[in-house]
Amino acid sequence: MVDIDLKKVTSRKCKCLDCGNEFKGVGKKVKCPSCQSENVECSE
Ligand SMILES: [Zn+2]
Repeated sequence: MVDIDLKKVTSRKCKCLDCGNEFKGVGKKVKCPSCQSENVECSE
């Protein structure tokens, strides 16, 4: 039986420091989908 590892996709919980929007960040450079700000804080 083969187990497919779905945890390979890096997604983190991010919060925009400008507008307070919380979203899922994928990748290295995360941008707020609401205000397009790069001033976001992410937790691993
Ligand atoms: Zn924002």
